[in-house]
Amino acid sequence: MRHELLIIGAGPAGVSAALYAKRANIDTGIIYLKDTALNTAHMIDNYYGLAHIKGSELFEKGLRQCQDFDIALYEEEVIDINWDEDFKVVTTKGEHFAKSLILASGAKRNVPKIKNYKEYEGRGLSYCATCDGFFYKGKVVAVLGDGSYALHEAEYLKNLAKEVYILTNNRPLKDAHLESFEIYDKEIDMLYGEDKIQGVRFKDGQELPLDGLFVAEGIAGSLDLARKLGVVVTDKNEIEVNAGLETNIPGLFAAGDLISGMKQVAKAVYDGAMAANSAIAFIKRN
Ligand SMILES: Cc1cc2nc3c(=O)[nH]c(=O)nc-3n(C[C@H](O)[C@H](O)[C@H](O)COP(=O)(O)OP(=O)(O)OC[C@H]3O[C@@H](n4cnc5c(N)ncnc54)[C@H](O)[C@@H]3O)c2cc1C
Repeated sequence: MRHELLIIGAGPAGVSAALYAKRANIDTGIIYLKDTALNTAHMIDNYYGLAHIKGSELFEKGLRQCQDFDIALYEEEVIDINWDEDFKVVTTKGEHFAKSLILASGAKRNVPKIKNYKEYEGRGLSYCATCDGFFYKGKVVAVLGDGSYALHEAEYLKNLAKEVYILTNNRPLKDAHLESFEIYDKEIDMLYGEDKIQGVRFKDGQELPLDGLFVAEGIAGSLDLARKLGVVVTDKNEIEVNAGLETNIPGLFAAGDLISGMKQVAKAVYDGAMAANSAIAFIKRN
């Protein structure tokens, strides 16, 4: 589908952005999942006007408000984003296009459950196949993950690398299509290698030699999506934005827990409104 504005995320930041944009007569769509910080918040007591409300109830209220505003809602998992003249958002169900995009996908970060992974970041450990895949042309790599996002990364790498393995780190497969790759479902103990990754060692002592390991566990988090677009990320792993919440990419805005500041509903709602105002101005200018 094509919209003037697409928003990724239906938490307080994404919903607030959509309401402001739609009220300004901008054709707006939200792509989201129900896996959100708000849904895990047992009770919210500190938000204006709502004395005592379950996070899950507030989340559902936000979705209903969007439906009342005729905002297009797509409950789909985002696995890739590209940017040329328009933004192209790839989900497990298809593709969506927009002139402007607001990232409001929360603060979840994919952190591999491997004890010494940090030592190898940038030295064979990557979080983005489209960004770094080229460096592994003709080499042996593995993707760490078990779902559709891991499949997407592995499919991309298949065209470049000599061999692509899937490592689930003791988790069950969530996407059966991954079975087209050789799978190691054992628990990983650690990575090994002198200057850069040379392989993984499993808990049972077996070693699997590798030139690179791509992390794609669970769903693509905000930083994974940002990296695919070349968005500048701060040393605190937050997306860098200017005062209008625009990133370094024109027409791409970010709001809520994934940028700096308080990780609270009130601030996410404000961010959403601010990012929408900037996106509206961008759409009208272009
Ligand atoms: C346990 C807990 C208690 C809390 N208590 C409070 C409180 O009392 N008061 C308060 O003000 N704040 C509280 N918070 C914080 C508050 O929930 C967050 O600050 C707020 O939800 C952030 O909003 P957001 O819109 O930025 O992100 P989120 O609410 O996390 O929403 C992110 C959205 O992006 C979607 N998304 C992410 N990745 C993808 C993808 N790949 N594809 C499709 N969709 C995707 C998610 O599914 C979700 O819809 C609490 C948080 C937690 C975890």
